[in-house]
Amino acid sequence: MKFYITTPIYYVNDVPHIGHSYTTIAADVLARWKRLNNYDVFFLTGTDEHGAKIAKAAKEKGVLPQDLCSEMSAKFKEAWQLLNISYTDFIRTTKPRHVKSVENIVQTLFDKQLIFKKKYEGFYCIGCERFYTAKDLDENGCCLLHKTKPVLQAEENYFFKLSTFGDELLKRITDPTHKEYIQIQPEGRKNEIIGKLELGLEDISISRTAIDWGIPLPFDKSQTVYVWVDALINYLTGIGFPNEEFKKYWPADVHLMAKDILWFHSVIWPAILVGAELELPKKIYSHGFFTLNGDKMSKSLGNVISPEELVNKYGVDSTRYLIVTLIPFGPDGDISWEGLTLKYNTDLANNLGNLLSRTLKMAEKNFNNTVPPQTEPNLCLVKQLNDILKENFVYNMENIQLHKASENIQSAITFINKQIEQEAPWKLAKIDKDKLASCIYSYLQAIDIIAMYLLCFMPEIAQKIWLSTGASGNIEETAKKYFADFNIPDDGFSVASSKLKNQTILFPRIS
Ligand SMILES: [Zn+2]
Repeated sequence: MKFYITTPIYYVNDVPHIGHSYTTIAADVLARWKRLNNYDVFFLTGTDEHGAKIAKAAKEKGVLPQDLCSEMSAKFKEAWQLLNISYTDFIRTTKPRHVKSVENIVQTLFDKQLIFKKKYEGFYCIGCERFYTAKDLDENGCCLLHKTKPVLQAEENYFFKLSTFGDELLKRITDPTHKEYIQIQPEGRKNEIIGKLELGLEDISISRTAIDWGIPLPFDKSQTVYVWVDALINYLTGIGFPNEEFKKYWPADVHLMAKDILWFHSVIWPAILVGAELELPKKIYSHGFFTLNGDKMSKSLGNVISPEELVNKYGVDSTRYLIVTLIPFGPDGDISWEGLTLKYNTDLANNLGNLLSRTLKMAEKNFNNTVPPQTEPNLCLVKQLNDILKENFVYNMENIQLHKASENIQSAITFINKQIEQEAPWKLAKIDKDKLASCIYSYLQAIDIIAMYLLCFMPEIAQKIWLSTGASGNIEETAKKYFADFNIPDDGFSVASSKLKNQTILFPRIS
């Protein structure tokens, strides 16, 4: 079974910030989850490099657009390396393979007479890279987003017959029994899309004459392909289109993105695909925006959070965990440094950290730092955890409810901590060494289960936890077996009598 997941390609006029990181870490968590479920995963990310905004920025800096793109694209690659993002491929839209792919799609649509030439007049906002009509602008004639006055441009452009696809798209979006049903989530935003579709679609301009930093139309080299059409086609290029090999992964299983670009993905992109007689993506999921202490994050306010800042404070794995679990995945949410630190201390330093340190200390003190040997392995606790976790966690991961999946893990950790309080094994040290051995053994096995569930969120730390408890074998291979049938081996995962790894403190408290 294959699983193809994408992030949007990020526009290189910006440096990587917490917003890009949010989508990308979420995609990475899902990609890792599917790999643990034995899927053949293709995970695509990359950078969007054409358009007027880039040409303008390059000119202002006195560099070539291509050089600016390479410099900025490298920053995204660095950020994803820092955050341990396991992408399969990183696409850049200025590379020849993408040009070939865009030419193919645009030519196909032209041959099918879905593209025609028309005079057009509109207000072009360079910040948005799109045309507006007068009614889309505010009372001063400014873009609602950028508060700048778009230039009135008259061009003879090529148009895509988007208007002819409205009914077809409505059917595919609203009818789950349609063989090419396209699932748009969350539900609220899907309804907004349906509402707009019901009002009818207008044809859209898909080329520019005045912008030469783009891919020339194959049938009229005096015009370049509109940057948005160019960008969307990356999802095909990344898996080898137009070569036949792309069929191994197409259609995409999930396109992930922020809500501001949902329209392009759920209407324009599917229309292009229907027009080119290609299958539609199965799921389109848009998440919300962050505010920081109630304020929008922006360059001008100087409150944009970079991945480095987060990693410097919390470490790589804790950053990954915090970003995708702090707010529900879907709606908008407000974050703050205080909120991040509170969640770090609550979930990681206290709940998980305490479980690890007290269990390992008891084993060190009473059993010479080994997994206590057993005549009858005590796996009651592990089996209880298994029952608590498996269905809920799987459901939440499959529905991209990452914050809920993390709550499932936290509840399981709390459950183990409560069990330890109840059994109070420290009181057993002098009176019943066998009972003590049995307790500690069961806690170590329980921690191994937790490590497997944490693996897609915190790959390095989960590995460290796995090694610290004397668990045998590679955690990933073991987790793949475990997630296939949720079967627990007869004697658990941590091997009796094996030495525990002295661990450094994984989650120092942060103030
Ligand atoms: Zn604008």
